[in-house]
Amino acid sequence: MSRPSTSKKTHNVVIVGGGFGGLYCAQSLKRAPVNVTLIDRRNFHLFQPLLYQVATGGLSPANISAPLRSILKKQSNARVLMDEVEGFDVQSRAVLTRSSRIPYDTLIVAAGASHHYFGNDSWAKHAPGLKTLEDATEIRRRVLQAFEEAERETDPERIAAWLTFVVVGAGPTGVELAGAVAELAHHTLRGNFRTIDPSQARVFLLEGCDRVLPPFPGDLSAKAEQALSDLGVNVITAAKVTNVTEDEVELLNRETTERIPCRTVLWAAGVQASPLTRSLAEATGAELDRAGRIEVQPDLSLAGHPEILVLGDMACCKSHDGRPLPGVAPVAMQQGCYAADLIRMRRKGRTKGPFRYHNKGSMAVIGRSRAVADLGWIRFGGVMAWLAWLFIHLMYLVEFGNRLLVLMQWAWNYFTKNRSARLITFTQQEKASRSSNSKSPRSGKAHMPSPQRRKTERLSRV
Ligand SMILES: Cc1cc2nc3c(=O)[nH]c(=O)nc-3n(C[C@H](O)[C@H](O)[C@H](O)COP(=O)(O)OP(=O)(O)OC[C@H]3O[C@@H](n4cnc5c(N)ncnc54)[C@H](O)[C@@H]3O)c2cc1C
Repeated sequence: MSRPSTSKKTHNVVIVGGGFGGLYCAQSLKRAPVNVTLIDRRNFHLFQPLLYQVATGGLSPANISAPLRSILKKQSNARVLMDEVEGFDVQSRAVLTRSSRIPYDTLIVAAGASHHYFGNDSWAKHAPGLKTLEDATEIRRRVLQAFEEAERETDPERIAAWLTFVVVGAGPTGVELAGAVAELAHHTLRGNFRTIDPSQARVFLLEGCDRVLPPFPGDLSAKAEQALSDLGVNVITAAKVTNVTEDEVELLNRETTERIPCRTVLWAAGVQASPLTRSLAEATGAELDRAGRIEVQPDLSLAGHPEILVLGDMACCKSHDGRPLPGVAPVAMQQGCYAADLIRMRRKGRTKGPFRYHNKGSMAVIGRSRAVADLGWIRFGGVMAWLAWLFIHLMYLVEFGNRLLVLMQWAWNYFTKNRSARLITFTQQEKASRSSNSKSPRSGKAHMPSPQRRKTERLSRV
């Protein structure tokens, strides 16, 4: 079994991931006698809880992200490397990146999570998930483009399909997305088009459990469902998605197979830990749980490797009642601070008790002025919960400038019901594929409803 280094030479802490876990750990090591190397494949820290606002044109990408170099510029013991980590050499204690090999004395791995399609990866191209800024701008493009396509269409069935939006998964992200898309369609875009009426758009929220926001208490789920329905979202619970194609979603709703013709599907149904967990598990012999998270010891280290700590969404860390902690930002932040403390204590030749999560509650927002909050000692919904949500999210944005910008943007959006970041942007690849498509004759075949499809049961509930 390897031991953490306690010698007097400068101790190198390498942190993989500048998200909530990694960044909080790096910042908490500010005054520690260590050298910190923070590696991230992006040059910015992303505030994921507000990604849905970018995806629906409420905020711009820069509002919810901050350059890692600027955050750490005054921390003289820290450096930032923009690189992709590909593996680990745990025997000789080095992180293997795309371009180099970086030695460590203590390794912190906090590379987060990605989408999970439960073995149906082919659905990903039709139903993008929301995890990165690129995902958010892609969703924004698809949602806004759907209205543009509908405006150009003449066939009523195709118009209806372009104006139907399906969100899969009614956890906090799905609820937030569905509420925001409904608001965009029913309020923000009102009067913006000449041939279509955006308020005719239908937004479906599909959930496999028997209520929305399954981790919340039942009364808050009911409040959230009512708020969604007030916004015009069609909630379908106990619905298992069985297929997603370019132009429809198939679901098993209780015993009946139903199909929703639609051109925009958003995936908010599942996450799995970063693929780095697999290479770390192979290198150390650690176990993975069903969500691909790596099982950690009570002090967040890996069994037999006290010099390796895993944090945040990558870690399967049990709470004192034996249940795994949820993949939420406060868990990652608190673990980041704990890991930094542990490193400091070990440098003094001491140790630290197990990690304990202080749960301050959960919140989910539904549209412009409603939310639900479960703070453990009190549960509430409505405008008060929304104000609390606003305050907390503003406070946790990393840079003061962003707080100010987001506050002003929200105030403007609130009073004008506007979402001014409604930009349709393309990557170079998308631009190239659009221009090559426009050169070939338009077949329209993909849009034609087949006779067989006409026979299938159409979803009529609105
Ligand atoms: C849309 C959405 C909404 C959410 N809303 C909430 C909410 O309202 N409240 C809440 O508490 N939580 C929310 N969460 C969950 C919360 O954001 C996560 O639990 C938290 O970000 C986990 O922190 P982390 O440090 O483990 O990972 P992350 O914050 O995801 O950071 C991982 C970092 O690792 C980097 N990275 C990944 N792989 C590599 C690699 N191979 N090489 C180099 N760098 C790499 C990434 O670029 C990223 O910067 C939300 C998540 C999403 C996606």
